Amino acid sequence: MIYLDNNATTMPSARCRDAMIRAVDELWHNPSSMYRAGQAAKRAVELGRASIARLINAQPKELVFCGCGTCSIHTAMNGAVVTHRDVENPNIITTHVEHPAVRYLAKQVGERMGVETRWLPTTPGGRIDAGALEKLIDERTILVSVQWANNETGVIHPVAELGRICRDKGVTFHVDGVQWVGKMPTNVGTGNTQELGPANIDDCGQWIDMLSFSAHKFHGPKGIGVLWIRPGTKFAPSSPGTQELGRRGGTENVPGILGMAAASEEAFDFLNDPKKMQDLSAHRDRFEARVLELVPNAIVNKPANPAHRVWNTTNIAFPRLEAEVLLLMLSERGLCASAGSACSSGSLEPSPVLLAMGIPEELAHGSVRFSLCRDTDPGCLEEAAQMVAACVKQLSGSIPV
Ligand code: PLP
Repeated sequence: MIYLDNNATTMPSARCRDAMIRAVDELWHNPSSMYRAGQAAKRAVELGRASIARLINAQPKELVFCGCGTCSIHTAMNGAVVTHRDVENPNIITTHVEHPAVRYLAKQVGERMGVETRWLPTTPGGRIDAGALEKLIDERTILVSVQWANNETGVIHPVAELGRICRDKGVTFHVDGVQWVGKMPTNVGTGNTQELGPANIDDCGQWIDMLSFSAHKFHGPKGIGVLWIRPGTKFAPSSPGTQELGRRGGTENVPGILGMAAASEEAFDFLNDPKKMQDLSAHRDRFEARVLELVPNAIVNKPANPAHRVWNTTNIAFPRLEAEVLLLMLSERGLCASAGSACSSGSLEPSPVLLAMGIPEELAHGSVRFSLCRDTDPGCLEEAAQMVAACVKQLSGSIPV
């Protein structure tokens, strides 16, 4: 099988699996219990927290463990609503290119809690238009929530520019880093990580107030995510309890946390060698070029500036084809990829993310996402390109002209 769907999920690493098995076998006691076995579990959780904090250069106590990326996003957004109950007619600002975790919640928060949702536009390449934020934000804005990198296209958004505006206006800035953290260097700047390599020196992280990320996108387990909260950020828990310094209740998922910690240590090592990312990016580019060579009418859905795309993702439109049909055919031949389209109430809808990017509906219907991981064997990419071309040819032949 050739697996090119790493933005959906990644295979847990061997170290992650070993850490989880150890947690299930030896550290299954409740970390809140005062006896030795409970305290051993608690110690393991805190060591794990430190490893995860190091991945984003934060202090361990700033991390709140959550059920997954979606849960982390809900904790941040619902927390903002609870925190700002005193604001009359509040609004939150987000975008149409967000993952459903944000888009759906933004709508729900609006409908159920009386919070207005304002939508930031995107520029033709799919990047959020930072210039438009100044006009949308006002004294009733309680939160700006945007993604760092897009799950369907890998487009990187202008987080530093957006964050600067929020800081200037005193508005909390939440970033969905689910497709970023573990794949790209992240530095929120509150930690004391000394080992950060040159690629880690950027100033995006310092403008973020809350950051969501999820272990299963970087070879960790499913069902565990983190909300990082910058000290001084106003935050009220929407699921109160005694754990996580009162910021989120519930007995800790010890195997999940230890699995995420192992994956974070490996991701940290990977990110400290920028050459690896550059090589993988070159493999992605070669795959893309090969597909375009073999299918000359295919179009890559990407931003104008190559620096504005995460190294692992490509999204390719095959005119006149339906992505779902192509994906089924590829799956039969052993290639896993995906499309942003969702099957809703029996009809296949084109990806709202691609439409928001300005991609015509016909092309959005035929767009497929291929996503690599740091362990992708470059050797399989030529085979994958050939397979895509063969399937496109077969399907195109069956469409009446
Ligand atoms: N945000 C983005 C950008 C994502 O790609 C995903 C998952 O694909 C999520 C949020 C949700 O993360 P999780 O699957 O951990 O709930």
